[in-house]
Amino acid sequence: MGDQKSLLKILVCDDDPVDRKLVRAYLKQIDDREIVLLEAGDREEIQSALDRGSIDLVFMDLQMPDKSGMEWLAEITHSQAAPVVMLTGLGSEDIAAESIQEGAVGYLSKVGLSRERLETAIDNALIRWRQVQQSRASQEELERLASFDSLTGLYNRRTVLRLLDDQMKRAKRYDETLAVLMVDIDHFKEVNDRYGHLVGDRVLEAVASVLSQSVREVDRVGRYGGEEFLITLPKADVGSAREVGERIRGAVEEGGMTAHHGAVFHVTISVGVAGYRSGEDLLAFVGRADDALYSAKQNGRNRVEVSDQGTTQPNLIPL
Ligand code: GH3
Ligand code: MG
Ligand code: MG
Repeated sequence: MGDQKSLLKILVCDDDPVDRKLVRAYLKQIDDREIVLLEAGDREEIQSALDRGSIDLVFMDLQMPDKSGMEWLAEITHSQAAPVVMLTGLGSEDIAAESIQEGAVGYLSKVGLSRERLETAIDNALIRWRQVQQSRASQEELERLASFDSLTGLYNRRTVLRLLDDQMKRAKRYDETLAVLMVDIDHFKEVNDRYGHLVGDRVLEAVASVLSQSVREVDRVGRYGGEEFLITLPKADVGSAREVGERIRGAVEEGGMTAHHGAVFHVTISVGVAGYRSGEDLLAFVGRADDALYSAKQNGRNRVEVSDQGTTQPNLIPL
């Protein structure tokens, strides 16, 4: 039943039926692949074939009516729908180079076409496409690694600060409120000392998950440092930010953590809250949340403190 052969769905886009017939004739001669051939001669046919999806390879004639082959190439490349090999009547290195530049995985001249050439073009196109997909996947992986904390899955410090910076700009432009919470686990060193680092890691993951689950979709949660977290609350004023802080504090306090030997223990957090003052910079804003966190620690831990108006801004202290 030909199940040893790989099935390949090829879409040939060419407005000239004679050229399509030529390509079809050579494709039919290829016998080490099972090829399903789709043909499209105009814009509607191409679009509907693409819309139906699951195409493995597109041969696209350069000269097409009402929408050029290059335009199709750009569109298909952008949507990553399928690899595209450009077809042209007259071979030209310039066009070949331009096609590749625009995202084609190959280029084939209809002049001097043969089964061998077509077969080679298909093989090379599929190899190239796989490479493109792989490098795209590893690029995405790199971006993920660079933006997220590997232990908790939260944004890392750099990313959450960048997101906060964007939110500050928006709050300033639209004169909206914005608040941040700085969260720190209380006596976390003791958790590590008593239960070991691995349990400590699990506590970090558990707290991170409580934080993520306690905020709205628009809020951003990042791991700011070892056992410290930063939460951004766009359009929240200090009062509602304090309520969020209280809710999170309560949720962490109630959540049970399990040690290796099955014993259940609890951890608490301290929270510093600051509301954005239009025009202040990132460091000053986060610095005030940090100051409030420090007060929460000083005032006994497992509590929420709000940055008051009187707090000195670090960047205004004279040297
Ligand atoms: P405080 O209530 O004042 O915040 O006391 P604390 O013990 O929580 O604070 P301290 O800054 O003294 O200790 C933080 C500890 O967090 C020390 C460090 O070893 C631990 N830590 C930082 N990152 C990690 C991590 O990724 N995993 C684990 N298990 N521990 C971590
Ligand atoms: Mg701590
Ligand atoms: Mg700390």
